[in-house]
Amino acid sequence: MKLCFALAIASTLFGLASLGIAASAGPRFYGDPPDQHHPWAIHDGNRPQPKVVTPGTFSTPDQAGKPPSDAIVLFDGTDLSKWQNDKGGPAPWLVKDGYMQVVPGTGEIRTKDQFGDCQLHIEWAAPAKVEGDSQGRANSGIFLMGRVEIQVLDSYHNITYADGHAGAVYEVNPPAANALRPPGEFQVYDIVFRRPIYRDGKAVDPGYVTVFVNGVLAQDHTMLEGGTGHMTRSRIGPIGDKGPLSLQDHGNPMRFRNIWYRELPLRATDGGTDGYLTPEATLAKRHQIAASIREDAAKLANSPNPLPEMLRLLESLVYEKDEPTLQKASTMADQYVANLKQLPADQLSGKKDEARQVRDAFNYLTKFKILPADFAPKAILAEIIKDQGWDRRRQP
Ligand code: MG
Repeated sequence: MKLCFALAIASTLFGLASLGIAASAGPRFYGDPPDQHHPWAIHDGNRPQPKVVTPGTFSTPDQAGKPPSDAIVLFDGTDLSKWQNDKGGPAPWLVKDGYMQVVPGTGEIRTKDQFGDCQLHIEWAAPAKVEGDSQGRANSGIFLMGRVEIQVLDSYHNITYADGHAGAVYEVNPPAANALRPPGEFQVYDIVFRRPIYRDGKAVDPGYVTVFVNGVLAQDHTMLEGGTGHMTRSRIGPIGDKGPLSLQDHGNPMRFRNIWYRELPLRATDGGTDGYLTPEATLAKRHQIAASIREDAAKLANSPNPLPEMLRLLESLVYEKDEPTLQKASTMADQYVANLKQLPADQLSGKKDEARQVRDAFNYLTKFKILPADFAPKAILAEIIKDQGWDRRRQP
């Protein structure tokens, strides 16, 4: 008997997983239900679990850290196989002692990978020997999608125009702080990039970039104004969905190490189905969730205990009204309370927890008007629970 039960649970869990619906991670019928902008309920047990990532390690001055487990590594200190020059030929920069170094005059290098939205980690060092000033001192740049420059510059005790400092979105926005280490030491950039999204030539999302320099916030969700250039004001404009990451040769022997990125979940404006959605996207997602739960309920049909199927059907109604489902679940609920009523006292007493759970489900569904307030099985069940004194607290 126990084995059968375990198998039933296992197959249910498997069914849910294969439908992309998370196995129960919390009580059902609990927090506020979905609304027109949110496809999930509050504390929704069906909401998919976050993916598990093994974190990496932080870098030390001498040693690059380890990337997180889902990072796509662009440079691990050994070779430039993931990079090319701007003509598609081999990347001509120097690789030595775990870093790459600009060979002045050879031009920018770019990744063979093309990508858009990302979490990017990159470390760089200016030459220890200070030469030049302002924009002439240890200049390079990190070009997201080959277009948006996050400035790389030895800004340590170096005055230049504010929107050209290290950590600036070049010519658009200065860094909120100058948190550079002295030249010769590696600086750490952590960047969250959300590309502009265009539809039918119109920006539906201008795109944003967040930058931490050595762990200090430099760009706080800064709105993009298109690709950045030099001297001319950037204008918002389509820049595509993907592009390479490129590193600038500005004539200085800059070093880079430990370069990796992670792909980001889709934004709601990009077809993502989590977060604050449009009413249309919410409706579509709620339909998908409800359909998955109904499919799951169908797999539970004709089992000796009809309760899990009934609860699953009721649960699907939280996401989407569906008349046949409502009819079927109502019939099952009628039968459930009728059976309960007929049970002899010795068998009924074992149903206390189950009945209260079903009662809580009925209460939730009527509270949020998913079931009518006069849903008959609710009143019958409440009466049974009252008669049995199942809600009474134990006398101290
Ligand atoms: Mg630059």
